Parts: sequence; C-alpha cells; structure tokens
Amino acid sequence: MMNRRQFLTMAAMSAAALALPTRTLFAAAQPHVVVLGGGVGGATFAKYLKLADANIRVTVIEKNRIYIRPYGSTEVITGHIGMRDLEVTYDDFAKKYGINFIFDTVTGGDLDKKVLRLSGGKEVAYDKLVVSPGIEVMYDKVAGYSETIANTQIPSGWIPGNQTQLLADQLKAMPQGGTFVMVAPPNPYRCPPGPYERLALVTEWCAKHNPTAKIIGLDPKNEFVTDKNMLLGWNRLYNFNIPEEFMKGMPSDVKHHMVPSQLEWIRAKDGGKVKSIDAKTKTVTFEGGSIKADVLNIIPPQRVGKIAQDLGLSDDKGWCPVNLTDFASNHFKDVYVLGDATHGGMAPKSGFSANSQAKVTAMAVIDALAGREPNENPVWENTCYALAGSDYGLFVADVFRLKEGNVMYRVNPDRYPSLHQTPAQIRLGAVYQQTWMRAFTQDCFA
Ligand SMILES: Cc1cc2nc3c(=O)[nH]c(=O)nc-3n(C[C@H](O)[C@H](O)[C@H](O)COP(=O)(O)OP(=O)(O)OC[C@H]3O[C@@H](n4cnc5c(N)ncnc54)[C@H](O)[C@@H]3O)c2cc1C
Repeated sequence: MMNRRQFLTMAAMSAAALALPTRTLFAAAQPHVVVLGGGVGGATFAKYLKLADANIRVTVIEKNRIYIRPYGSTEVITGHIGMRDLEVTYDDFAKKYGINFIFDTVTGGDLDKKVLRLSGGKEVAYDKLVVSPGIEVMYDKVAGYSETIANTQIPSGWIPGNQTQLLADQLKAMPQGGTFVMVAPPNPYRCPPGPYERLALVTEWCAKHNPTAKIIGLDPKNEFVTDKNMLLGWNRLYNFNIPEEFMKGMPSDVKHHMVPSQLEWIRAKDGGKVKSIDAKTKTVTFEGGSIKADVLNIIPPQRVGKIAQDLGLSDDKGWCPVNLTDFASNHFKDVYVLGDATHGGMAPKSGFSANSQAKVTAMAVIDALAGREPNENPVWENTCYALAGSDYGLFVADVFRLKEGNVMYRVNPDRYPSLHQTPAQIRLGAVYQQTWMRAFTQDCFA
C-alpha cells in the first residue's frame, strides 16, 4: 500500500515525465555527467541537460564561487559599470535545476579510466565528461611580459578580474595628454571584435575626460571581423581616417579629416607587430618603431585553458579538436569540449558560440546516453555585438551548419549590418547589445 506522500511523489514524477521531451526516459541507472568549468559553455550545458532530463545526475566542477563574466568587461575599464556588475553566482541556479556544484580546481585526471582529480587529491568519476575551461593567456609569448607584470603593472584583462580593475584605475589616473597603447592579439583569440571595441570605448572616454590623450592600437593583423562597420563608427565619432582598402561601399558621409584623430590603428602592414616591451618604462618596441606608453594594455596570444592541455585534449595548435557533429573530443571517448577551448569549425570564440554549442551538445549527450546517434545536421548560431561608442552598435551574426559530415559552413550570406543604416538603427544596435547581455546572462546562468 502506498501512503499519501508516496502517492503524491509518484504522481508528480509521472506528470514530470509526461512533460519531458521524447528524448528522455532512461531505464538504466542514473548516469553521471560531469562538467569541467562553470562559465558560459559549462553552465549552459548543465542547465539544458537538466531541462531535457532532470533524471541525469549533473556535477559542475568550477574553481571560482563567483563567475566574472568576460563579455561586457571593457565597460568596467571606462567606468560605465563596476566589477560587481560582472559577477554571477551559482546558488539559485544550482538549486533551481538540481545541479551539484563542486567548487574546486581540477588538477588532472585519467580520461581512459573516466576520472578527474581535484586539488585536494579527491577523484570524481563520470559517465560523460564535458570540458569548457576557457582560455589561457600566454603572457610569456610577448618578450618582456609575464603574468606577474600583468597582475601588477601592465594589465591584460582578457580574463576579467583584478587586472580589469587595475586597467580602469590606470586609465582614470592617466595624465592629460597621455598615451594609451593597446596591443591586439594574433588570431585565433577570444572575442574577435573585442580589442577594437576596447579601443573605441577608451577613445570615447578620453574624448570626454582626457581630450588631448592619444590612443594607439598595435596590431599583428591587417583586418578584423566587423572592421568596416567599426571603422565607419570611428570615422564618424573620432575623426578617424579610414584606410583606402576599406573604403569600398562606404556611405557618402565618410569624411577625410584634416585634424588628426585621437585614435590610431597601426596594422601589421604598417609595422604594428610587437617585438618586445620594457615593463619598467612601459615602452613597446614594434616592427614600425617604439612608443613609450602611460597606460599599456596587452592582449597576448591565447590557447586553451591549461587543464585541457594537461588532460591531453588539445593539439599542437593549442586548441581541442572535436567532431563537429556533437563536439565530442577527437582524443578521448565520452568526453566533449565546448566554447573557446575548441577549434569549433568556423565558429568564433565567443560566449554566444559557447552557449549555442552547449545546447546542441546537451542534446547529443542525451542521445548518447540513450544509445542513439547524435543529430547529424545540427545548427549553431553566433552574434557578436560590439560598440564603436556607447550609442553606436554593430554586430556580426552567423548561422552555421555542417556539410560532408564534418565541415562547418555559414548559411547566411550577409553577416553585418548595412553600412547605410540610419542613425536610429545604429543607436538601436547599442540598445540591442545591452539587452542581449542581460538576456544572455539569464539564459546561461539563471
Ligand atoms: C572583453 C571581452 C568582451 C567579450 N564580449 C563578448 C560579447 O559581446 N559576446 C560574446 O558572445 N562573447 C564575448 N566575449 C567572449 C566570451 O566571454 C567567451 O567566449 C566565453 O566566456 C567563453 O565561454 P567558455 O565556457 O569557453 O569559457 P569561460 O566562460 O571562460 O568559462 C571557463 C570556466 O572554467 C573554469 N575553469 C578553468 N579551469 C578550471 C579548472 N582547472 N578547474 C575548475 N574550473 C576551471 C573557469 O574558472 C571558468 O569559470 C568577450 C570576452 C572578452 C574578454
């Protein structure tokens, strides 16, 4: 005989089971899915896996109790928001979806035996492992630079934290007429439009607070995603003269300014590739010369987060190769890799991409646990919003699919907003950037 409580529990479970999508319902014992990294990719994956099947045991191992979101972090540097505004906590999230969190650092493991090792030596076993550890910033790849220098004198801030605040403080304290130098990274790197948005927002800040300052971007590349839209914004907002090779299709209001812009972009072809820095004097030596900066911000080359290298998931290019159908690792069975960590086909290293990949892979893991093949023809999306100024928004938007099994291609022919947008459309682009950030954080972490 069932008592009333048991009956109600059974009834609730049956109702929940009926409400679940058809991909669910396991006869087998509760499988254990472990997620390494509770950032954008890891948190989204854990949430969507639980939404698809509440019966799966999900454990997220994350080294920080508070996630500091990288997206939007340049707005701290220009004082639009504070560091606290970047913080995301996990308590409500964990409770709401029934996700187990272990706040510890994964220090290694044996992926043939399906175990991870934590900092205290404890081991965590899994049936399926999803790895989304983000990036490692290779400070030492810039001669004269190091992590210690980045933490104390010359911040990078590409992984947000104390360096982000240090850079904000340095910009505020920069003498009138001072020089801000930002060193852009080589491809591939986290957030392709990000360095150029940073140059723009720092220039906007200086136009108000330090109008005789100079902002210089040193770049080992000659172009970047969203370049035409961004350069048009720079032309309109900061008197920046657009290089001739970007002029095709530009609207007729583009001006050739006689007054020099506060903002200068020195590309690879103009000698923008950095050779070394002297941390004591904040002097950067690059192929085209040298500059002594008052504030120096270096965004070094990047590769996958260290733990993925230690676990043997990465290749000699520094990223994790995956089967693009489901983002299963090419190196280990029952392991999936998401987000910035992967080669990811054509998808950029963005939060939007990590979130989209996580949702597709959650369904693939559900299928794998049920002994089914993954969907052969998944669809991923990405939109990277960026600001040329607080009220000047732009974006690159993509939809990706697969052909010939493992080749990602872009479905949409147009990726960028028209260069002929009205001022209202441009202003709305900035509103969308802000609202996206809020809705996106909800989608990943709430
Ligand atoms: C300035 C800037 C602006 C950006 N703007 C945008 C934007 O507008 N739009 C956009 O889509 N993207 C943007 N991004 C990029 C976006 O933030 C990243 O692409 C996204 O965070 C990647 O998600 P992820 O899961 O791969 O890594 P992360 O979000 O970095 O998560 C990795 C997690 O793994 C944890 N971890 C790592 N190693 C271990 C370990 N050994 N043990 C336990 N935990 C570990 C980390 O603590 C972290 O929480 C921006 C980035 C920057 C720097």
